[in-house]
Amino acid sequence: MSFDVASLRKQFPILQREVDGKPLVYLDNAATTQKPQAVLDAIIDYYTTCNANVHRGAHQLSDEATRRYEKARDAVARFVNAAAREEIIWTSGTTEGINLVANGLAQLLKDTDEVVVTEMEHHANLVTWQQACKRAGASLKIAPIHDNGELDIEAFTALLSPATRLVAMPHVSNALGTVNPVKMLTAEAKKVDAWVLIDGAQGIAHGNVDVQDIGCDFYVFSGHKIFAPTGIGVLWGKRDVLQDWPVWLTGGEMIQDVTYQSATWGVLPNRLEAGTPNIAGAIGLAAALNWFSELDTRALQTHEKTLLTSAHEQAQAFEGLRMIGTAQDKIGVLSFLLEGAHPADVGFILDRQGIAIRTGDNCAQPLMKRLGIPGTARASFSIYNTLDEVDALFDALRKARTMLA
Ligand code: PMP
Repeated sequence: MSFDVASLRKQFPILQREVDGKPLVYLDNAATTQKPQAVLDAIIDYYTTCNANVHRGAHQLSDEATRRYEKARDAVARFVNAAAREEIIWTSGTTEGINLVANGLAQLLKDTDEVVVTEMEHHANLVTWQQACKRAGASLKIAPIHDNGELDIEAFTALLSPATRLVAMPHVSNALGTVNPVKMLTAEAKKVDAWVLIDGAQGIAHGNVDVQDIGCDFYVFSGHKIFAPTGIGVLWGKRDVLQDWPVWLTGGEMIQDVTYQSATWGVLPNRLEAGTPNIAGAIGLAAALNWFSELDTRALQTHEKTLLTSAHEQAQAFEGLRMIGTAQDKIGVLSFLLEGAHPADVGFILDRQGIAIRTGDNCAQPLMKRLGIPGTARASFSIYNTLDEVDALFDALRKARTMLA
């Protein structure tokens, strides 16, 4: 089945707008994705017809809101193939999900323990573990990458030992587009009995994520990277790990019994979800996942590959352009430098032509240092981008090269 990008684009109102009189070419999808009408409708419908607090009201609106909110949890559980709906914990996003796990682990980590991350981490999955290790006196080990942005698997495996308590790694690198072989890496980590956390911020929107197949213990992602609103995210965690996990935020909803002097904790998922949740966000996320699931996964993956292949071919032929990140298995991202030009200037000139990209350190300062560069210009693609937009990017880059020469 072919992928009808034109009709897909019609479902995204924002893609119809102009920037400075030019059609918007949105190539900043690794930062956040745009939202289809189905998601916007779901949020408006919730606020228009059944806005109420969940789990506590003695009235119909609250019952309806609770039903939609808990149905949203089911939708996420199906989407990632969780073994049970209780394994889905709502968060505000990837960053909070990682911090939630770190909060639990920090109370379990010993000073003889080690946490392994990679050189390609986003700050969310580096700084969080760096600080957790500092607090516990544990060691943080950094698995190196090759110069093309692929993980050095041999070195990664060599870092694993009985002291490894946790391996935390990205499914897909936001800065380089590298896809990590997370199933195989998880199997390696399991040989030393380590917990495995996958930062799925960039992995979630590109096809099937099956957490049971990967074999990890935690998979975290943000709704806004997969066509859902900001402010909602998910921590999926294995029930037998999470049910004994130290609690996170304390307050309403997460308790069982409370006296003035003490409290006992409720069961999953509530014990890790204190306070009024982002109800509309959860409903919006479910709408996004349901919408995404209706698409032909194979066709959309082929489409994304076609976009990246075209971008790579044009980048290779482009004089003075240096690609950053050329891993064999790569999706969605073209990070690059133009000779003699600062990425910020490239981004500014592209913006004048309606083309939205990201410039800077990609929230990965140590990775930029490792690669010996100050940052990159990054074009990142989603399923609604077109080959014409890839061409528009390179037309604009030719202009930028002339202006900055
Ligand atoms: N990890 C990766 C790989 C990311 O790309 C991002 C978002 N740029 C994050 C973590 C953090 O996500 P959020 O800001 O939505 O919490």
